[in-house]
Amino acid sequence: MNTKIALITGASRGLGKNTALQLAASGVDIILTYHSRTDEAATVVAQIEALGRKAVALQLDAGQCAQFSDFASRVEAALEQHWQRSQFNFLINNAGIGIHTGFIKTTEAQFDQLMNLHVKGVFFLTQQLLPLLADQGRIINVSTGLTRFALPGFAAYATMKGAVEVLSRYLAKELGERGIRVNVIAPGAIETDFGGGAVRDNEQLNQFIANQTALGRVGLPDDIGGAITALLHDQSGWINAQRIEVSGGMFV
Ligand code: NAD
Repeated sequence: MNTKIALITGASRGLGKNTALQLAASGVDIILTYHSRTDEAATVVAQIEALGRKAVALQLDAGQCAQFSDFASRVEAALEQHWQRSQFNFLINNAGIGIHTGFIKTTEAQFDQLMNLHVKGVFFLTQQLLPLLADQGRIINVSTGLTRFALPGFAAYATMKGAVEVLSRYLAKELGERGIRVNVIAPGAIETDFGGGAVRDNEQLNQFIANQTALGRVGLPDDIGGAITALLHDQSGWINAQRIEVSGGMFV
């Protein structure tokens, strides 16, 4: 009954999926959210179960605040059905989209889409789930290396992630009295579907970033899932209110 549970948004693929699998392999049960691909979510659940851990997949549009109260009720019901409420220890706000049109071409609709998912979504989803999260629990918000290094195209996206980094510091301050740690993982460029698979599929971009990275390559999902798993380890409990860049030394 001491098993901890992690809720990971956007975990049917990419970094969220990898994090779910690495956490499960380390003994954590998983509530994963998926946006629309029920089939992908079912595959991740089966992979987690094959590791001997429990997993539940819940549909969520993490950019629709109006859904969050109902979603929190579904999380509560899942906890009561499969575990105990006190076991919900880790919240990982990972869901995200990459829009890289550049400052001049960014439309208000694109800005709002990014804002709703990356800022309002993280703010109000966390607010709704906090009553369920155990004292001494942990929150990880996924940001980006691009809040420090300006890569042409990503002005609006990086602006949103910058807001999440500020929010994370405030959350750490306000939730410290419950023993909840809040940190940011800021990935470098990682080979996933993100941004239309740009880092993975655009050889020129991939090589450019590899050349600008101390370790000489772009990142893989394992690099981020591993870092998040390490940050949620009992022995990392004194790390709080930090932005941890996981990029192999990108643009150092
Ligand atoms: P990905 O496209 O492979 O996965 C994104 C996930 O978010 C998917 O599961 C998708 O279904 C989900 N998602 C998208 N919109 C959603 C919505 N409205 N509601 C709920 N879920 C939604 O991308 P990824 O690389 O795995 O990205 C994960 C996180 O990492 C994002 O927050 C992204 O900004 C961040 N990040 C990625 C990179 C990279 O190079 N891949 C770099 C820095 C930061």
